[in-house]
Amino acid sequence: MFKKTFFFMVLMTALMVLPCAAETVEGLPLHMQKIEPGVVRVWVGDHVSSTAVCAIATKKGIVVIDSTDIPKLDEAFRKVIARELGRSDFKYLINTHGHSDHTNGNGVYADCQIIAHETVPAIMQENFSNHSRSIVWVKENIQRQKEQIASGKLNEEQKAAAEEQLIISTLKSKFLNSDSKPTFPTKSFQDRLVLDCGDVTFELYQSGGSHTRSDIFILVPQKGILFTGDMMADKWLTDTPGCLATFAVRTGEVGDYPVLVKNWQALIERKDEIKHYITGHWNGELSHEGFQARFAYLKALLADVEAVSKPGGDFNQFVTGYSLKDKFPQLVGSPGITNQGHMMSMNHLYKTFSGKISLADALQGLFQNPETFAVGFAKLKGDVLKARDKYFISEAEMNGIGYFLLQQQKQVEGAVMLFEFNVELHPASWNAYDSLAEAWYEKGEKQKALELYRKSLTLNPNSENGKKFIERIEKELKK
Ligand SMILES: [Zn+2]
Repeated sequence: MFKKTFFFMVLMTALMVLPCAAETVEGLPLHMQKIEPGVVRVWVGDHVSSTAVCAIATKKGIVVIDSTDIPKLDEAFRKVIARELGRSDFKYLINTHGHSDHTNGNGVYADCQIIAHETVPAIMQENFSNHSRSIVWVKENIQRQKEQIASGKLNEEQKAAAEEQLIISTLKSKFLNSDSKPTFPTKSFQDRLVLDCGDVTFELYQSGGSHTRSDIFILVPQKGILFTGDMMADKWLTDTPGCLATFAVRTGEVGDYPVLVKNWQALIERKDEIKHYITGHWNGELSHEGFQARFAYLKALLADVEAVSKPGGDFNQFVTGYSLKDKFPQLVGSPGITNQGHMMSMNHLYKTFSGKISLADALQGLFQNPETFAVGFAKLKGDVLKARDKYFISEAEMNGIGYFLLQQQKQVEGAVMLFEFNVELHPASWNAYDSLAEAWYEKGEKQKALELYRKSLTLNPNSENGKKFIERIEKELKK
């Protein structure tokens, strides 16, 4: 008896993990996971970070969480969901946020009420207006993926991933080239919304300001599930995390952040009701500890950056003492947490709270058009020097843009102008001199570069890069 039960359990476990291994959709392996009775999660692919769609059976009908970026997949998913739940009374679709890989397939649920945060339609509209650019972009991706596969340089794993990606891109290209229009939500909300489906309740909480302005948490207490969309994960199941790659504050307006903290706090307090944290893509997992640690981080960051954004605060000094390593050592190395994301969050919040104009953003707008760059730059520089207090000036961002011009865009002239300005704004920075020296060196002005490297070394006698270049240039000048 014991043995029989044991084998039955082993068999059942195996079936739960791989119930549909043989089933495919458009040549992609289909996966179906039963999370709780009456709750299924469906996705395609073993390697690509594709959207996972969830469906929950309720007395009022089936509630679906998210569509994908390819309506053809959603059509197939809808059939699988109906088959697995043994019914087809689809009632609601809820979008976790406005990105195309969570809303493109909304039209497949046009017979349902579609619910999302009030900022979702604007994001969908913006995606739609970038339609022609997306077509070009996907076409380039397809070409690149084909070349990679043909190159023979990929290992088995990479090849399998590239082949899956190629199918996805081809499906996406077909969709983009059809004349379909977006299907917008039919009901939206601002802070919170409760959807009563009889035996199951859906509690929707605005959580905008991190991944997008439009993100929401969805708590389903009767099933013990919290949906967290693309905001975070603390474990990745594939090498390429896709949408779940960065946990950072990068969108949102001043008013969004107190709401985010209030709503997140309310969910932390209900942790005993949550058994499953479900992410928007199948290849990420989230634990309660990860959810809690990210909240503690965000809450501290918001309060501290808001404080330094007040008049008299010194943001650059604040940043120096606010590294991940020093302030949040427990998060170092956790998936989605990076120094770059941390920096991005601090910069974004400072701009938002202080209301200052970002010099980096203004510069980025300028070099989109190389022909007018010089004129625009001179004007911007004049404005900044006249009213420096109106601008948020980050030495690191300026330096990053300079290198982008120098290395990616090969605009040496522009890079010199930018690094020169950075030196003017930060005359005590050895790194600003070091970068300017590099740009002059690239321009062929070795004597000028040498002087600047020497200046940089007086500010930081330990600069290995400076020593290396001085030695190299001195040798080159002797020849
Ligand atoms: Zn997303």
